[in-house]
Amino acid sequence: MEFDWPREDAEFRSELRAFLDETLPDDWSELSKDGPGSDAQATFSREFCRRLADRGWLTQHWPSEFGGRDCTPWRHAILGEELWAIGEPRGPQYMNYNWIGPAIMHYGTEEQQAYHLPRMAGGQVLWCQGFSEPDAGSDLVALRTQARREGDEYVINGQKIWTSYANHAEFIILLVRTDPGSKRHRGISVLLVPMDAPGIEVREIPSVVGDRYFHEVFFTDVRVPVSCRLGPENEGWDVVSYALAFERAGAARYARAALTIDRLAELARERGMLEDPKIQERLGEARAMCEAGRLLAYRVIDLRTKGHPPSADTNLARVAGTRADTAIAELALEIFGAEALEYGSFADSNFRMAITAGVAVGATEIQLNLIASRWLGLPREP
Ligand SMILES: Cc1cc2nc3c(=O)[nH]c(=O)nc-3n(C[C@H](O)[C@H](O)[C@H](O)COP(=O)(O)OP(=O)(O)OC[C@H]3O[C@@H](n4cnc5c(N)ncnc54)[C@H](O)[C@@H]3O)c2cc1C
Repeated sequence: MEFDWPREDAEFRSELRAFLDETLPDDWSELSKDGPGSDAQATFSREFCRRLADRGWLTQHWPSEFGGRDCTPWRHAILGEELWAIGEPRGPQYMNYNWIGPAIMHYGTEEQQAYHLPRMAGGQVLWCQGFSEPDAGSDLVALRTQARREGDEYVINGQKIWTSYANHAEFIILLVRTDPGSKRHRGISVLLVPMDAPGIEVREIPSVVGDRYFHEVFFTDVRVPVSCRLGPENEGWDVVSYALAFERAGAARYARAALTIDRLAELARERGMLEDPKIQERLGEARAMCEAGRLLAYRVIDLRTKGHPPSADTNLARVAGTRADTAIAELALEIFGAEALEYGSFADSNFRMAITAGVAVGATEIQLNLIASRWLGLPREP
């Protein structure tokens, strides 16, 4: 067991920090205030990802045959930590590198890999995730969007909801029912659908997470070739389970939370609030939660590096990360007081991000259910 970073990884982190100092505009906090769905940040993110790609950093953990540099997942984790901590300037593209690209590497045909992966590795394409539906969120297998097969095509009809970044995305990774008589996990397939296909309509849903973030996406007789399917027909649940295992531990929430804690401690000192033992205690507790989130996330990366299949460790890491986020965001509200009411302020942005963390990618209650059954061996709910 070795808890220190190898020299070359530590050097990469320093180089990356210097690059970020140079590259991020002075008004980055203003630019990022409206979230990654805003037009301004989406435009900036494309340019930023292209620059990361030019340096070979964007997909360095991918195999070289797919545009990567064969680095271990640890390099990508360092990139994720540094970028998440400052508000994720890759914007929506982080999903390409964390889980959509890996799912295409694992399940894609040669044609799909040759078409999609170089575009992702070049930092030039935005994807969105079409999983949730109005009556299929936590219970994702209740999904009803259908893709009926007609010769060499699928004809898609249905609706998705809460689709982040659908307004900017060129592609959607879409979960559909391809066997109309099927139920639950069976009869589901995954399609890689261009967002400009005729019959797709995107409507924005206003939300607390920022401008133009959530959307409803409607599909009316959308025709795509069968070659758009990722993985075997009707066995899409395996593809999703594989992809979600990557996604759940993908965002380095603990890294941003740790920076927030440092800033809060400083502020509490300036305001004389450290004399209150309760504040001291909560700061210490929140820091411990961050550290737990970090170490549990590292365990997931370690297991992945060693080629172990996804396990309940991912759910544990996710719960610890979101709990740390929430505890810190609530503490920030208290320390900033009335200033936290200002839109886009440090405390406001943190709080808005934290309240959604326990819902996205499977709500905390669902993660806890999975831990109960997979880790503790408790009976699954009927
Ligand atoms: C920031 C953010 C980004 C998102 N981006 C996307 C995206 O890009 N694409 C996409 O497809 N979806 C996206 N989602 C949707 C997200 O996946 C769903 O919101 C989530 O799966 C929960 O589903 P739901 O909203 O339908 O809530 P519900 O499933 O209706 O759950 C409501 C409440 O009931 C609880 N609950 C439900 N079932 C159980 C149970 N069995 N045991 C205990 N408690 C239960 C839940 O924990 C939750 O608190 C996003 C959500 C957020 C917050």
